[in-house]
This record gives sequence, structure tokens and C-alpha cells, in this order.
Amino acid sequence: MESDKALLRKYLPETAVEEVYRAIVEKNIQLRITRTRSSKLGDYRPALNRKPHRISLNHDLNPFEFLITFIHELAHLFAFESYGRRHQPHGQEWKQFFQQLMLPYLNAGIFPADVENELKLHLYDSNAANGSDLNLKRVLQNYDKKKASLGTLVENLNEKSYFKTRDGRIFQKLELRRKRIKCICMNDSRLYLFSPLALVEPLTGFEPNQFLHLLKKMG
Ligand SMILES: [Zn+2]
Repeated sequence: MESDKALLRKYLPETAVEEVYRAIVEKNIQLRITRTRSSKLGDYRPALNRKPHRISLNHDLNPFEFLITFIHELAHLFAFESYGRRHQPHGQEWKQFFQQLMLPYLNAGIFPADVENELKLHLYDSNAANGSDLNLKRVLQNYDKKKASLGTLVENLNEKSYFKTRDGRIFQKLELRRKRIKCICMNDSRLYLFSPLALVEPLTGFEPNQFLHLLKKMG
């Protein structure tokens, strides 16, 4: 369908449209663009009970992230076709397809150099603990126009500084703990672990005493 291709043009790097479209037709994939889901970027549901393969992708991914996420989900499809449920979701079987399916898009001038470098490290990294996943996300965020204008990454704030989250709560940044950043919420005095890549609004010149006083007054 031409409308599918038009849809892809809206979300993908132009040079990747034909190749992705071919995969969609070949595997008869039902593609769905969804609202923002903070828990995931996309997902795959297998062709069972007479339904086609289904891939969903969040609407607010930048073009490079959109492409990588599509290939990630497409690798789930291939792994499902070959192994059914008898494989680990992100294990060796899936990973081989992910690498293979990504190949036509590498060294093809589709990705900016920084993304391509991190993507290659990510593809061939056998150990998730190396942080290649986080590094890839970090470099992808450079191309995320909407999100970039929305705030600052928690990892870029100074320790002990204050910031506000989208829901209006105020936090103080404490120390890094493994790959998470410990923060204390000024509203309920509880500790929270933030992703280093969470986007927040820095509060400069924030006076915690004043804030606590105000909270007490409000009951
Ligand atoms: Zn997955």
C-alpha cells in the first residue's frame, strides 16, 4: 500500500524507506504508530490466531531511533519464525537476526557518524554491562529535537542541585549508584533512582527551606 510508504516517510530517514517497506510487505506486517509509552519504544506480537505479525512503534522516536527500533522488533519476528517461543527474547538467536537485519543500513550513509559508531558497538557487544545500550541511547538523544528543548539530562546536573520533573515534583540530585542516579524527592522525602538520561528542568537558585515551609503551610 502506498499509504504505508507515506507513513514510513514521515518517521524514517528517507534513504531507509524502501528497504523497510520491502520487509513490511514481505512479512505482511501490520505496523502501528502509538502514543508515547515510557516503558518501551516499540513491540512485536507474533502472527498467531490468524492475525498478522504486528509491530508497534512510539510516534515520538527520532528517525534513527525509529529505524533501529523497527529492526529490533523485526529481529523478534525472525527469531519467532525460526524458533517459536523456544528462545530467549534478547538472547543469541535474536541477536544474530538483529545484526544481520541491520547490515543493509550500516555504511550506507543513513546514520550520522556518532550514531553509527555506537550502533556498531551495541550490535557486537556481547556484554550488556559494558553500557553500550546506554551509550547508544545517549547519542540518539542528540537527534531528538522535541526532547532536547524540553530539559536537561539528570547526568548533566551538578550533584546536590535541584530539579523539577514533568509532573511538577522537585528533587535533589544525590550520587550515582551503579547506572542510576539517586535523588531525593522534596515533596515526600523519599529516595528515587533516576536514569541518567531522564529529562528534567533544572531549578537554579532553589531554596529548599522556603519550599518545605510552603509545603507545611499547604498542609
Ligand atoms: Zn525486544
